[in-house]
Amino acid sequence: MDINLLKKKKVTVIGAARSGAAAAKLLRVNGAEVFVSDSSPAEKLQPSISWLNSESIEYETGKHSARVYECEIMVISPGVPSNAPVVLEAVKRDIKVFSELEIGSWFCRSPIVAVTGANGKTTTTTLIGRILDHAKKKHVVAGNIGTAFSSVVLELVETDIVVLEVSSFQLDHIDMFRPKISILLNITPDHMDRYDHSMEKYAASKARVFRNQQSEDILIYNADDEWTNRIITQAKCRKIAFSADKKTDEGAFVENEKLAVVLGGVKTEIIDIAGIFIKGKHNLYNSMAAVLAGQLLGVEAGFIRSTLEKFEGVEHRLEFVRSAGNVCYYNDSKATNVDSVWYALQAFKEPIVLLLGGRDKGNDYSQLTEVVRKKVKAIVAIGESAEKVEQAFRGVVGIKRADTMDEAVAAAHSLAESGDIVLLSPACASFDWFKNYEHRGQVFKELVKNL
Ligand code: ADP
Repeated sequence: MDINLLKKKKVTVIGAARSGAAAAKLLRVNGAEVFVSDSSPAEKLQPSISWLNSESIEYETGKHSARVYECEIMVISPGVPSNAPVVLEAVKRDIKVFSELEIGSWFCRSPIVAVTGANGKTTTTTLIGRILDHAKKKHVVAGNIGTAFSSVVLELVETDIVVLEVSSFQLDHIDMFRPKISILLNITPDHMDRYDHSMEKYAASKARVFRNQQSEDILIYNADDEWTNRIITQAKCRKIAFSADKKTDEGAFVENEKLAVVLGGVKTEIIDIAGIFIKGKHNLYNSMAAVLAGQLLGVEAGFIRSTLEKFEGVEHRLEFVRSAGNVCYYNDSKATNVDSVWYALQAFKEPIVLLLGGRDKGNDYSQLTEVVRKKVKAIVAIGESAEKVEQAFRGVVGIKRADTMDEAVAAAHSLAESGDIVLLSPACASFDWFKNYEHRGQVFKELVKNL
């Protein structure tokens, strides 16, 4: 897209929260005629709405009226799925639909590191940011993680680095988005309800992260992940693997209990695996991806090592809450799919009382049967999907139903004995009982603290 062609072009932005508002402004300062539409009521969209008012950007709330289709380009905010009726209708009408990620990339002068995958995006993106912080390399962390890409892009110069957390919904609507380094952490079932229950479609969406990369660009990928291995054959750029299970010719792997890296024929031992603060095999993967990105961006091994020793992970991801009566409580509220729960269960040796359930996204729990049999002593079934959870694990392990988070924590407390773990790792979205996963995690932590 030639940004000069934006002058006087009619653009509709779907979504009036942070990213939508930032995209609207970016397009407006570049000459487009912008209209913003959000189906949520205005009171839920503050402070964005006040800001749209102060910028005199036209908008509507509480609906998507016919006016949204009076445009040549539609821009969708990160939370809007590709199969939302408003998006499908725009496509039908031959309106070009782009994600906010794509719009941001039109104006981006600095190299982009784009992190995607079903799980681990926020952890890895944050960790790369910390490594760059530590090495004093000028950078910005943005994307799905909080700061809208469109809101920072004009401040970036060629020598900066932008580290972006990128979701499949955003990748569905790119055109020219081209990262210097892309990272593909894993492709396991998530959002199946939004991809017609097709892993092919979900994987194809993730593959778009490297679609525009050329020979001078780099894809960092998980060589232990089946779907990732299948799709990276399509990449035209340099491919660098990481693996926890085998050695790779070029990339990151485990050797003699150390995380080692080979790049351009040079081997560097980065850190003892035991010295990495964040635990679990999934976090080893995230660490390996971040180490490779750090090295490729020219950060010395010493800075990377000391960051890995200190980085405590991100709130709501396998977060230690407290120990009470020699029972350790963990908040993994961000585990909103089955695979993340699988990794959470792997991370412990102790017997686990598991709080499982919420708003189901088309989950197949059978993947958990074996690990639940081995590691879980009881399940507390919560949320809308409690019945489905009960059906899936009946006969595998004891199950107790709870109708509120208070009841769930009390039940877990009474089921757990000295030496056990109580783990909230729900495998589901949170919108049945809570505003979002952060809210669910906060409520859980409060209750645990008050035990
Ligand atoms: P995302 O941003 O992709 O949702 P997060 O870093 O926020 O990823 O982690 C989400 C959930 O997935 C948490 O429960 C976390 O413990 C788990 N997780 C993190 N990294 C991985 C990984 N590489 N593989 C599987 N699960 C992971």
